[in-house]
Amino acid sequence: MSTPHSHSGAPLAATAPPAPAMPAQPPGHAANAADTTADTPPLVALERVSKRFGERPSNPATRLFERVGLAHPPAVVHAIDQVDFTVRRGEVVGLVGESGCGKSTLGRLLAGLLAPSSGEVRLEGRRAGSLSAAERRAARLKTQMIFQDPYASLNPRLRIDRIVGEGARVHGLVDRAGFDDYVSAQLARAGLDPALRERYPHQFSGGQRQRIGIARALAVQPDLLVCDEAVAALDVSIQAQILNLFMDLREQLRLTYVFISHDLGVVEHLSDRVVIMYLGRIVESAPAEEIFRHPNHPYTRALLAEIPRIDVRHKTFAALRGELPSPLAPPSGCHFHPRCPHALPRCKTEAPTLRGIAVRHLSACHLNDAA
Ligand code: SF4
Repeated sequence: MSTPHSHSGAPLAATAPPAPAMPAQPPGHAANAADTTADTPPLVALERVSKRFGERPSNPATRLFERVGLAHPPAVVHAIDQVDFTVRRGEVVGLVGESGCGKSTLGRLLAGLLAPSSGEVRLEGRRAGSLSAAERRAARLKTQMIFQDPYASLNPRLRIDRIVGEGARVHGLVDRAGFDDYVSAQLARAGLDPALRERYPHQFSGGQRQRIGIARALAVQPDLLVCDEAVAALDVSIQAQILNLFMDLREQLRLTYVFISHDLGVVEHLSDRVVIMYLGRIVESAPAEEIFRHPNHPYTRALLAEIPRIDVRHKTFAALRGELPSPLAPPSGCHFHPRCPHALPRCKTEAPTLRGIAVRHLSACHLNDAA
C-alpha cells in the first residue's frame, strides 16, 4: 500500500490518479473557510452521552413480574457509556477500537442518525434539544457519513446523478436548471468522470462506488465528514487513493473529519488527534504524534504492538488476551480488567476516570494514580 498523505497534509506518495480539473467551489462552501480556532465552540460536542439499545419503559406490573421470575428484564446493549467527545472545526480525529466497541454508534450519534439515551449533544455550542426542527435539520446537514460498504449505501435502482444530487435538490441547495452542472462538479471533485453520471452503481468498482458516496456527501456542503471504516472494504492500493482524496478535500474545502477505524495504522498518518475506545468508553485521547510515541493506556499499547511494520522482521505478535466482552454485560470497574496484564484489585470494582496526564493527553487507567 502506498502511503497516504500525512496529517500535515503533505502527500507522502503520489498514488491517486490524475485528478480531473476541479470545478469552481459551490456556493455555501465559502462558509466553511472559517478556520480552526480554539476559542470557538466545537462543531459537535457529546457531553456525558450514553446510548443503550433494547431498553423499554417498564410499568409496575412488568417490574413485579420480573421480580417474581415470571418475566425476564430486557437484554440491554450498553453501546456508549457516558462519553465526552468533541470535534473542533478543521480537526481530523481518528476514532479507533476493536469491532463492537461502540465507535460506529458514536459516529452515528455525531451525525445525528441516533439520539442519545442520556447526555447532551451540542452543535456549535447550542444544545441540540433547544434548536427548532428547521435549525436542527440545517445543522445536521453539515455532518455527513461515509459508510464502509459503498455498494450497500447506494440505491441500486437510481442513476448516479440522482444519488449524488437528490439531497442537494431536496434541501434547496441547487435548482432544477443548475442540477446537471452541480452533480458534474461533485463527481469531478470526488475524482470521477462526470460523463459516467447516467450509469448505475453496479457498473462501478468498489473504489469508484466509494467516490460516489463521497460525492453524495459533498453535494450537501458539509462541514464534518464522519468516515466509518470508509476504506476497510477496499483493496490496499485503492485505500491509499481514497485516503489521499479525503486529505485533498480537507485542503480544498476546509473539511473536518472523524475517521472511525479498527486499525491504528490507517489513522496514523491522517489524524491530528487519536481517540481510543474500549467497550463503549473512551480510554485514551491525545495528539496523534503523542499517542504513537507515548501510549499510556495498556489497551492502546496492545493495539500499537499489533500494527505490522515492514522494518521489523521476525516480529512475534502477542494477541490481546481473550475477546472483547459482550456489551450486554460489560465487566465491572475498568471494562478492560479481564484482559489487562497490569490489572489491580481495585480495577475490578472502580471505573477509572479519563484525566490529563500530559498536555492534551488524557488516559483512563488506575496505574496513573500511582505515578
Ligand atoms: Fe488495566 Fe486497571 Fe488500568 Fe484498567 S485501570 S487498564 S485494568 S491497570
